[in-house]
Amino acid sequence: MTQAAIGTSGDDNFLRRLLRRESVDGAHAQLLTRFPPEPNGQLHIGHARAICLNFGLAEEFSGRCNLRLDDTNPLNAAREYGAAIAADVRWLGYRWAGEVRHTSDYFDRLRDCAEQLINAQRAYVCELSSEEIREQRGNLREPGQDSPHRDRSQADNLRLFQAMCTGRSPEGSAVLRARIDMRSPNMQLRDPVLYRTRHHPHWRSGSSYYCYPTYDFSHCLSDYFEGVSHSLCTLEFVDHEPLYNWLLDALELPAPRPRQIEFGKLTLSHTLNSKRRLQRLVAEGRVSGWDDPRLTTLSGLRRRGYTPSSIRAFCHATGIGRNEGIVDLALLEHSIRDELNRSAPRAMCVLHPLRLQIENYPDSAQEQLMLPVHPQYPERGSRELPFSAQLFIDRDDFSTDPPKGFKRLAPGRSVRLRGAYVIRCDAVEYGDDGEPSLLRCSYDANTLGAKPDYAIGGVIHWVPATASVAVTVRLYERLFTVSDPASAKGDAFLELLNPDSLVCLEQALAEPAVAVASSGEHFQFERCGYFCVDPDSRPDRLVFNRTVALRDRWVAESGK
Ligand code: ATP
Ligand code: MG
Repeated sequence: MTQAAIGTSGDDNFLRRLLRRESVDGAHAQLLTRFPPEPNGQLHIGHARAICLNFGLAEEFSGRCNLRLDDTNPLNAAREYGAAIAADVRWLGYRWAGEVRHTSDYFDRLRDCAEQLINAQRAYVCELSSEEIREQRGNLREPGQDSPHRDRSQADNLRLFQAMCTGRSPEGSAVLRARIDMRSPNMQLRDPVLYRTRHHPHWRSGSSYYCYPTYDFSHCLSDYFEGVSHSLCTLEFVDHEPLYNWLLDALELPAPRPRQIEFGKLTLSHTLNSKRRLQRLVAEGRVSGWDDPRLTTLSGLRRRGYTPSSIRAFCHATGIGRNEGIVDLALLEHSIRDELNRSAPRAMCVLHPLRLQIENYPDSAQEQLMLPVHPQYPERGSRELPFSAQLFIDRDDFSTDPPKGFKRLAPGRSVRLRGAYVIRCDAVEYGDDGEPSLLRCSYDANTLGAKPDYAIGGVIHWVPATASVAVTVRLYERLFTVSDPASAKGDAFLELLNPDSLVCLEQALAEPAVAVASSGEHFQFERCGYFCVDPDSRPDRLVFNRTVALRDRWVAESGK
């Protein structure tokens, strides 16, 4: 397991140390960060790291954080994703400063800046095709070549740029490029593209624009317009930083200026965190939607039963560093298990019911047993569970031919029913399929709340036959069979999907206390794991998602 991030400690990351130093003589009156997602898909757990970082630092240093939808590409940006992104940030527990901002708010100002660069002879319209531009860029060993359009006059550049903006130049026929240095060792400085023509309406600005700024051009300027003090981005933008600063310099923008700082991306094992690839899974119906509980999108995690606090705790535990190890999914599972262990009320649910008849318990009798809502917190009260002669236990808790060490029920053996009596299996009836269909048992009336003076196996869970509620239970496994599906090339990640990632149990029976549960409510089904009520539930049919199983691989493997 790669666990580099843990060592970087969430408590004192390099950004905090930097901000503490800076707060003494910082150029900005107040710290202002921003979270700038592109609305081309829903947010995932990787974004949660960036959200916790940007909003968390703003909170800690009495600053603010903007939410800015980076909607420069009219082909990708979509209104519904913008709304989902804002809802996810709010769900995680953060509030942005003022209104949601959009890069498209600045289209006019950005165009003015582009014209200013043209007037200063620091940008030119290039009519090479995108392939020609790529070919002439050179590579890390060879310098690039100057475009034949690099030395156009200012007046020509202005005229051609205006043609791009007003739709008079055909789509793809021209781009605006910064005039920097085709021989720079930093490829990002080899006359990067600032504007592209796109004859495509934009979801916010409609058909008013025929060309759109690139990320590099719009990002630093949007940061500047908003008064951002620290522009935090992931490490792949290290090489873009000189361009970020070049643009601010070339436009002679007065201080205070934003400063780009990079941090390590979060990569989680067994998952995909790329909006583009997630989009494929959703569009091809390989999952049920962006909120499929097997996805580590924020909406998927929410539906699976993750809470905002568990995700924040996970982001804190993995720390913020400049190294980018793969974080094991078991650590994310640990964060929700840890929380639900404390918060989730207990209940019993039999996943694969096996009928059990207590022969020496009067057929018409019934007693109300009281079980604690949470064994560690008696103050949270108790739940009622009717006990009678007919019950169900889990098929897995019975074995006709028990292997060595089997601590559950078997012919002639005794176990305790959780919160109830000790029972012994006296006889087994089998169905046509050869599987046990009924266990005939006897109970020991002296064992309610009292230890027997003979050896018994373990404690097993059960539900009453009449009062239990039929529920649907969805069990999830990892969506991918390998730990690093993101490294698969092209479409190969689709071959790595785990065909058994969803098991749906329609026969499960839960104790009566869960009958009134509503969507999103959590339970620990004793011995089975943590579950939450899925929004697919109807009043007459609850659907439970297993959030996480009880066994904690993270604690087991990290030796904590
Ligand atoms: P994707 O490939 O999923 O689209 P992206 O980086 O293109 O990811 P953006 O919408 O541009 O997504 O991201 C918004 C912010 O979230 C950026 O500041 C980006 O650095 C940050 N971010 C995205 N993915 C991660 C990640 N895995 N870990 C940490 N921060 C991330
Ligand atoms: Mg992206």
